[in-house]
Amino acid sequence: MITPDEALEIVLARTAKLAPEVVPLADAVGGVLAETVASDLDLPPFDKSAMDGYAVRREDLARLPAELAMLEELPAGVAPTRSLAAGTCAKIMTGAPVPPGADTVIPVEDTQALPGGRVRILRAVAGRPCICVRGEDVRQGATVLERGHVVRPAEVGLLASVGRERVTIGRRPGVAVLATGDELVSVSAVPGPGQIRNSNSSSLLACCRRAGVPADNLGVARDNKPDLRAKIADGLRRNVLLVSGGVSMGEWDLVPAVFEELGVAVHFATIRMKPGKPTLFATHGERLVFGLPGNPVSTLVAFRLFVWPALRKMMGHPEPAPPPVEADLANKVIIRGDRTAYMPGDLRYENERWVAHAIETRGSADLVGFCRANALLILNPGTYTPGRRVKAVPLEL
Ligand code: AMP
Ligand code: MG
Repeated sequence: MITPDEALEIVLARTAKLAPEVVPLADAVGGVLAETVASDLDLPPFDKSAMDGYAVRREDLARLPAELAMLEELPAGVAPTRSLAAGTCAKIMTGAPVPPGADTVIPVEDTQALPGGRVRILRAVAGRPCICVRGEDVRQGATVLERGHVVRPAEVGLLASVGRERVTIGRRPGVAVLATGDELVSVSAVPGPGQIRNSNSSSLLACCRRAGVPADNLGVARDNKPDLRAKIADGLRRNVLLVSGGVSMGEWDLVPAVFEELGVAVHFATIRMKPGKPTLFATHGERLVFGLPGNPVSTLVAFRLFVWPALRKMMGHPEPAPPPVEADLANKVIIRGDRTAYMPGDLRYENERWVAHAIETRGSADLVGFCRANALLILNPGTYTPGRRVKAVPLEL
């Protein structure tokens, strides 16, 4: 049986970056730039006041307080009509263009308005012109974002300020989600004897939404070959197919047999981990197929550890699988057996360090317990005493 690290290596080795696509700026957040972006203008585009106050000539302030005549008022968005001559000033708002001749803005709190359009300057802090100079952030034509940069809200703002209504990002893979099982009923139904609600389709679609990839719900395939064959064949038209359930060793676990019939090449079908042992990975040409364990917690753990990094790699993410974080264990834990445990944990910053509280749950079907976790603690078999440094995968997903 392969280890979780080996499994991830196999998945990523068979995952290729998709071709880029051009998207409207509003859809770019969460994507990865597939182009290097230059500014179409100087930023800021003009000498701009950083304060509400008065634009002045520093040489008029040799003796303080000084009295100046106000020429005009400059709200943001209004171009100055006059240059400052000796002994004059302009009232100016934050973001307004500084008039020609002015070299300093005096904040309003250091001034006093006088009758007859005159202004008294009380103080002038040396070395504080309160002006953002044209081009001081970036020059026209200079690179503002490199290819491979992840687009967050700040990048969206920068792209907007350099005039980019559309931008080229790594294409997001289309995902199909298929649940399997004769016992499954819809969320709206009240389960009869032996039935359970299909929760995995909902949670996996939610995972895809969080990962920023479009996903289609293929519903439920029943535990018979014709239904599985038809729905899996449909799912194979997407970049990634997620099949939940039906991949362990039970008599009704027909998914591997159907994969074989459809020419889907299976690369592994078990991983030495708990939960998530019956996790299957296969490919069909360039398409990826994951067989995720049916238990609701196992499915989420397998998605986070193997599917999420693959989706990120397809989108061109520079770090598809970020390394785990380190934390000090809060409580005693014993891991039995021979599989690496991914134990639900609560990661908290306490007394100036990260502390991981292991959470006892009722196992891989216990979504109630799992909802208290914000991390997976990676624990190999053995005894862990409080204070031990452990690795944890944050579940920010
Ligand atoms: P399986 O992997 O098909 O053997 O299923 C393992 C366990 O997960 C069984 O208890 C199933 O009833 C449960 N299970 C399978 N699919 C789902 C699903 N879509 N939603 C909730 N539970 C499921
Ligand atoms: Mg099943």
